[in-house]
Amino acid sequence: MTDVPRSLIEFQQRFGDEAACAQYLAAMRWPDGFVCPSCGSGKAWRLETKAWTYECADCGRQTSVTAGMHHSKLPLTAWFWAAYLMATDSNGISALQLQHQLAFGSYKTAWLLCAKLRRSMLAPGRSALAGLVEVDETEIACRSKNDPVTGGGGRSHQGKLLVVGAVEVEDGGRGPGRIRLARVADYSAGSLHAFLAANLAPGATAKTDGWSAYPGAASITHDPHVVGKMAAHIVLPWVHRIFSNLKVWASGVYHGLRRTHLQSYLDEFVFRFNRRRTRYTAFRSLLGIAAAHQPTPYKMLISPEAKT
Ligand SMILES: [Zn+2]
Repeated sequence: MTDVPRSLIEFQQRFGDEAACAQYLAAMRWPDGFVCPSCGSGKAWRLETKAWTYECADCGRQTSVTAGMHHSKLPLTAWFWAAYLMATDSNGISALQLQHQLAFGSYKTAWLLCAKLRRSMLAPGRSALAGLVEVDETEIACRSKNDPVTGGGGRSHQGKLLVVGAVEVEDGGRGPGRIRLARVADYSAGSLHAFLAANLAPGATAKTDGWSAYPGAASITHDPHVVGKMAAHIVLPWVHRIFSNLKVWASGVYHGLRRTHLQSYLDEFVFRFNRRRTRYTAFRSLLGIAAAHQPTPYKMLISPEAKT
């Protein structure tokens, strides 16, 4: 029941109507049968009056199979298609592409759905990078115009934003493991140490270009390589390849990333990269991770910075 479709045809056969989608969600959410989130009871009945909602027989709590994850105005089938396309396409899918492919009436609908899926890509409790980790900084060109949700107005200049990246080095340098990307305010020791603390496990070794702001981070071993005349992409090949792929993706899929939502786009890139070998199960983890989130207020989606 919880395996993942391998093709578009199989997907359409599996998730062709609302009932099939809801049953899939219920099976994912309660693999051993319904469990009340309030009292833990396993006794419940399906409500006739509310779609895909169970009422606990012991405490009366009503629980929707889609609680916290579903854009209420859209059919589940559209929501599933969006998750599938975003998870399985090697480059993901932009809101504009999604609007065309699923024939949504408005760009805003597609954009909100993308934003919601993207927010689900940040797995709560994910484990920090370990072992030898390349760390470096880059600048990303951003656009702030053509923003149909906030209106854009008046900030149409392009600007550069600062991004720090980290890549686990696997197999003695033969390949990259998992990655992390984060927007930072500056390249100060405070900003970079906060990134290292949030993303590298205690005991990890940060391999850097020797920039003086990196040393001194708590519980991280520092392996500086003062670049000098040697190009940074030779000393830190994997993090530079990630930066390069990130920029190609940003211009190819999104025609440049928007300043306001930069971190969520970075999270999307990280999500897809870290699941590059398990693309089909990324669909399931997208739905599964989403189920663990609380519903997102619209204002928080359009202005992520409002959270702090
Ligand atoms: Zn209950």
